[in-house]
Amino acid sequence: MTATTDAPAIITVAITGSLPQKPDNPAVPISPAEQIESTHQAYEAGAAIVHIHVRNPDGSVSSSADLFREVQLGVKRHCPDMIVQFSTGGRGRDQSERGAALRHRPEMASLSTGTVNFVESVYENHPGLIRALAGEMLENDIKPEIEIFDLSLLYAASRYADAGLIRRPMHVQFVMGMPGVLPFRRSVFDFLLSELRATEPDATWGVMGIGRDQLEANRWSLEAGGHIRTGFEDNVRFDRTRLAVSNAELVARAAELVVTHGRTVATPAQARAILGLPQA
Ligand code: MG
Repeated sequence: MTATTDAPAIITVAITGSLPQKPDNPAVPISPAEQIESTHQAYEAGAAIVHIHVRNPDGSVSSSADLFREVQLGVKRHCPDMIVQFSTGGRGRDQSERGAALRHRPEMASLSTGTVNFVESVYENHPGLIRALAGEMLENDIKPEIEIFDLSLLYAASRYADAGLIRRPMHVQFVMGMPGVLPFRRSVFDFLLSELRATEPDATWGVMGIGRDQLEANRWSLEAGGHIRTGFEDNVRFDRTRLAVSNAELVARAAELVVTHGRTVATPAQARAILGLPQA
């Protein structure tokens, strides 16, 4: 299928994720050394942004600013122009610690602009917490990636931008296929995108699909002019027949998809220009 644009597409690799239980793929990187190595391979394969959650040695989700710092420094050493994005996501973490690592000033951090129910849990983002995280990002020149888990979070993002807490143009990530939240359906994607264009016409954006929807989400995004995300956080399988062997394998496949859609893989320098970030 031909894309409506030939603009460079940014590949984000979400290397590890936040499911507190042991991942069901042993190749998921857990220690900082594994995360740095996995990120380096993914960078070589074409990823311009790394989305980072850190884990304790027992595999549980960590809020340790020191661990975030260790991974950040390792990535900077091996991939000097790669964009580092910390997660401020909540799963398995104490609310008060979710912004602790922002003091290390990653270039980007995720920011969810509202609360949603997952199937058996609440992803709670109190307005006070959102304002605190957004304010800290603003102060430290950290560009948020607005994680849109549900439609209302998009309008909330606009409200925070109107209030001066989020800079425009914003960067938005639609999260689709998460059980209990937005289903992975074309009509839903089309509506999300039309609402984004109506409310934040200058925004850059991507859509990510969970599990088996990862690849199709990449296709939809590439066709519609968006950016893409891959990696173990969202999906640990290569296909129905086997587990993925590395984040780099998933990135390499995403990079092929970019090319077959008539686009080019954004270099980190191009990604910085697209997102309005300073060059490395
Ligand atoms: Mg995440």
